[in-house]
Amino acid sequence: MLFFIITIPLASNIYAQGNGVSNYKIYFGSCDYKNKEIIVIRQFSQSKKVFYIGIDVNDIKTLIISSDQIKLKPLSWKKILIDYKNTPYIKAVIASKRQSFEMQNSGISNGYPSEKGIVLTIDLCPSHKPLDRIIFTSLINEFNKYEKPLPLALSITGRFMITHSEDIQWLKNLEKEGYIAITWINHTYNHHYNPKLPLKNNFLLEPGVDINFEILGTEMALLENKLELSAFFRFPGLVSDRQLVEDITDYGLIPIGSDAWLAKGQVAHNGDIVLIHGNGNEPIGIKDFITLLQKEKSAITNKQWLLYDLRENVEDEFDKQ
Ligand SMILES: [Zn+2]
Repeated sequence: MLFFIITIPLASNIYAQGNGVSNYKIYFGSCDYKNKEIIVIRQFSQSKKVFYIGIDVNDIKTLIISSDQIKLKPLSWKKILIDYKNTPYIKAVIASKRQSFEMQNSGISNGYPSEKGIVLTIDLCPSHKPLDRIIFTSLINEFNKYEKPLPLALSITGRFMITHSEDIQWLKNLEKEGYIAITWINHTYNHHYNPKLPLKNNFLLEPGVDINFEILGTEMALLENKLELSAFFRFPGLVSDRQLVEDITDYGLIPIGSDAWLAKGQVAHNGDIVLIHGNGNEPIGIKDFITLLQKEKSAITNKQWLLYDLRENVEDEFDKQ
């Protein structure tokens, strides 16, 4: 007897749905748009029109541009890496590739000690628990008098978006009301993890993982939720190998490591990229973070200890070199 197992690939499903976005794919090229130098990294169709997702090579911000607004010059990623090697965006990509030899914590990190303050990254890995809203309310209470909107970088997974639509809406409202400004970091769709597997076969390194879906599926989900995607990426578990870093940067993305994962007892110093989890699974990290805020309270009051925007921080760092 023959059995036919029919599976509908989740990937093509996702690519086809929501907001009428279709044909979502990698597409590389360059263009000028409103006097900005742009590298295009994606193309998609919506309402019978073609759109591009571009990255401003100087400030690393994202733009969605209608194809009839620009004259696009198609370019290979290899050629972009050469032609734009002196821009903050491509310098950051190249720097992240150089920090790809360890199994954990590849990507941009190592802090910028000249800054008085930190870049705060909050990971939203898949979770059945609600968003730790106290992180955001504490931050707003402590900082908004001095910094408004407050820059935060949130590493988001596709699965978190599916199960936390109210939390996502709550964050969007905080942003709309001007309390916070979010940089959304791609943290993959499924965030594969198997506690029984060694690191070298775990997370994104697990055999059979569909990298293309993990990246593009998350970007599609961000578009569907009307959230702005960025050029930044964080490895689940901070686990990767050299080849994987190459694969991720080939999508035009910049992997972001961490200097201080508070729940692991690592201490935050000035200029650090600090990691906490906001998905309800890391109460110790949150406690440490609140303690850190209290410790820095007088410095915050004197505007000597600030939160920095990930994009501006990376731009500044690679502008200087
Ligand atoms: Zn994670």
